[in-house]
Amino acid sequence: MRDTPGAYPRRPDLTAMEGYHSPQVDVDVRLNTNESPFAPPAEWTARLGDIARSVRWNRYPDREARELRSAIAARHGTFADNVVVANGSNEVIQAILLAYGGQGRSMAVFEPTYQMYSQIARVTGTGIVAGQRRDDFTIDASEMRRVMTEYAPDVTFLCNPNNPTGLVEPEALVRELMDAAPGVVVVDEAYAEFAEWSAVPWVADEGRLAVTRTFSKTLSLAALRVGYAVVPDWMARDLAVTLLPYHLDAFSQAATLAALDYVDEMEARVALVRAERDRISTAMTGLGITVWESGANFVLFRPAGPGASTVWSGLVERGVLVRDCSGWRGLEGCLRVTVGTPEENDAFLTALGDVLARA
Ligand code: PMP
Repeated sequence: MRDTPGAYPRRPDLTAMEGYHSPQVDVDVRLNTNESPFAPPAEWTARLGDIARSVRWNRYPDREARELRSAIAARHGTFADNVVVANGSNEVIQAILLAYGGQGRSMAVFEPTYQMYSQIARVTGTGIVAGQRRDDFTIDASEMRRVMTEYAPDVTFLCNPNNPTGLVEPEALVRELMDAAPGVVVVDEAYAEFAEWSAVPWVADEGRLAVTRTFSKTLSLAALRVGYAVVPDWMARDLAVTLLPYHLDAFSQAATLAALDYVDEMEARVALVRAERDRISTAMTGLGITVWESGANFVLFRPAGPGASTVWSGLVERGVLVRDCSGWRGLEGCLRVTVGTPEENDAFLTALGDVLARA
């Protein structure tokens, strides 16, 4: 007997899961999802009408997104055959787990880290192996090697800089991981523009390393949903199987191609975001808050006193939304704030000071 109509075809593991989302609240200052606070260059926006008109809307797009992949490859000094594009880097991550995960296979992460790796692993039926970071969120090389030898994961994800801690991994650790990992290693560089170094030059056809990137953060195009990965050629062929045909629409392809003309301009804003990040970190430390040093466009912090959830609600009441990470294992009491415009950051600091003063 079924107790609810339609219960039979549902996957019990899925019904037990919640979708991944960052709670959205209608407030003036939204500092919860790590986007760029700046709109893309006006010159690019002005070209969108022409781009939309140039699309042959009755035809499917270029399934292989050849022109876009070639242009991205040129930026990285590699070949189109080494570039995979998709609807955000989340879709690249999903394509990787569809290709190399699944029933009887496993994926390793070092917690706390970006939650979508485990979410997509669960959805794709991939086993999860979680190594733990130290209390300061660095990864101990011996813990990393233990996870690799004990579980031999088919895929390992390393987020650099790490979301939500902001920590930049040392090059040597990533090198060691590449040596120790028996399967595919994915370095997620969603916040690469803030980091001192990139693993992209290490991607090789004879290797097992993939590096994912996105247009959603520094490049100010979160609404467009385009991400990519630089991968060995054999991996690009595998991912072409797990991605749906025509997955990236013609407008997104053309608009992203045009956006590449402005990447240098968009990357030049990184310096301002960094300066603002350091300003809010220093101000929070002055308020007696524990702040972790960040190599990205967000800051993880742990307010003493009233507790994270009370501070989060107090900020919302004052029109500021940050991310409540306090329910994540290893991040008890922590909140994460995305660096906004100088005015948004002022609003955040004023609201935070006010919440703490009233506690
Ligand atoms: N990786 C990391 C570490 C992220 O923080 C995000 C966005 N929150 C993504 C990937 C996904 O970005 P997108 O799908 O917009 O490219």
